[in-house]
Amino acid sequence: MHEPLSQDSMIEVGRRVREAQARDLLEQGGTGAVGSSLAGIFVTAGLYGEAPQGTLLGWLGLLLALQIGRLLLAYTVTDEGEGVGRDRVQRWARINLGLIAGTALSWGVGVYLLWPDSTLHQVILPMTVVGLSAAAIIGYAPVRAASYSFGILAILPLAARFVSEGTTAHIIIGFLALLYLALTLRLAVTMRETSTRALTAGFENQFLAAKAEAASEELAKKTVLLEQLVRLDGLTQIANRRQFDEVFEREWRRASRTGTPVSILMADIDHFKRFNDSYGHLAGDDCLKAVAQALKGALQRATDMVARYGGEEFVAVLAETNHDAAMVTAERLRDQVASLEIPHSDSGAASHVTVSIGVATVIPGPNREPASLVEAADDALYEAKEGGRNQVASRSEKLIPAQKRKSGQWALKVT
Ligand code: GH3
Ligand code: MG
Ligand code: MG
Repeated sequence: MHEPLSQDSMIEVGRRVREAQARDLLEQGGTGAVGSSLAGIFVTAGLYGEAPQGTLLGWLGLLLALQIGRLLLAYTVTDEGEGVGRDRVQRWARINLGLIAGTALSWGVGVYLLWPDSTLHQVILPMTVVGLSAAAIIGYAPVRAASYSFGILAILPLAARFVSEGTTAHIIIGFLALLYLALTLRLAVTMRETSTRALTAGFENQFLAAKAEAASEELAKKTVLLEQLVRLDGLTQIANRRQFDEVFEREWRRASRTGTPVSILMADIDHFKRFNDSYGHLAGDDCLKAVAQALKGALQRATDMVARYGGEEFVAVLAETNHDAAMVTAERLRDQVASLEIPHSDSGAASHVTVSIGVATVIPGPNREPASLVEAADDALYEAKEGGRNQVASRSEKLIPAQKRKSGQWALKVT
């Protein structure tokens, strides 16, 4: 079940329904104009010699002029197509109503002006007016004013004219015309309701479809945002462990295919526990953010990435980077953090916050696990800590012989 449309949307739907109905009326104006013109010509021919000739021709001229107006309007609307603005359609619709009412009135007034003495000729009038009006009332049913104008301005005067003649036969014809009018109006109401219901359903569907589309766009945007959030570390706003895993695996596979080296740098803040103890946990958080941004800023290639590995540990993946280049990069990262000069009086390694970095490089191949490279970098980090911190170390010896035994084609350089 759809969520119902808002009140504003319902009002807009109503407006569009009326506009579509007015437009249909405009476009079908040609048929009505041709019908009225032909009927006018036949009536003139039928009453020629029976009604005052000047009045007859003058009346026909007026009727035809109105019909030409309707034809021109119908032609303009059809020609301008769907893209016409709401204001113009409304203006045309008003002119159209005026022309329709004018046509109906021509018939109503015509009955009085052209009333012949011969009873036989008088019959021409109810046949024409009632027939034409019935078609108009039903044909124009969706637009109430157009539909009713023929009933009120054409059939009512006709009925009145017949009743006023006074003979039983005339009175009966008058009342038959009224009965006919009542039945036709009843039918027109049903037709208007059907048209409005169908159009309303169509426009409501358009609105609902637009709403559903907007909602799914919104959802897609949120999904993208969520995917980004899921891959970022909340505190430091750099990549998190999950993103590191993805990128590292991808780079590892790529390097396996291309036979190029990939390097991992593992960085850890020196004596960070003491930093927290001296300056407080909040200052510790600020320090982590600053260090993370410094590490990120020190990476130069688009494919390089650094992530928070956990706690005060960071990891960088350097694709297509050999051992020497990785050592240079690691040194730059270490230097970048040191140059932040965040005071750390209890460090022992320096008077400011520093990091130790472990480096490992490998050309991946079959039988090699990505985890082994991370382990090697971790071992190197341990060595850098042992060596006095605030330094870069590469400790790959343990890894290389083990792997060499398996494949014999490792290309790790040992410092
Ligand atoms: P080392 O030089 O050997 O690395 O010494 P360390 O004190 O840095 O290492 P240790 O592993 O003993 O302590 C890590 C500290 O990092 C302890 C922990 O409170 C702190 N830490 C980890 N995550 C966060 C964090 O998100 N915010 C803050 N403020 N501190 C953190
Ligand atoms: Mg530490
Ligand atoms: Mg640590």
